Amino acid sequence: MAIYIDCLYCIDGNMPAGIHGVLGPVYQPCPVCMFVCPSCEGDGIFAADYTCLPCLRQRLARLGLAAVLCGYCLGVVDLIPIDTVPEVTRDDHHH
Ligand SMILES: [Zn+2]
Ligand SMILES: [Zn+2]
Repeated sequence: MAIYIDCLYCIDGNMPAGIHGVLGPVYQPCPVCMFVCPSCEGDGIFAADYTCLPCLRQRLARLGLAAVLCGYCLGVVDLIPIDTVPEVTRDDHHH
């Protein structure tokens, strides 16, 4: 059921979640207006400065980091040093 009132927590379902040390300004789907991801339980964050995932990945790669994405909502749930990422999982390849 959708209730169209101005939400105190978000803008169009995007709830500002502070400034991340690496990602910059981040947001999360508003738990009031939007569904809570069943996979990461709303832990996934989205970088406001990067609308394009390849851009984000390239930027992180330059910093030696790789983003661990929630497989359901594609939110960033963790950042890990890139040299710990096994080669087979780097492009989300599944067997
Ligand atoms: Zn909201
Ligand atoms: Zn998720």
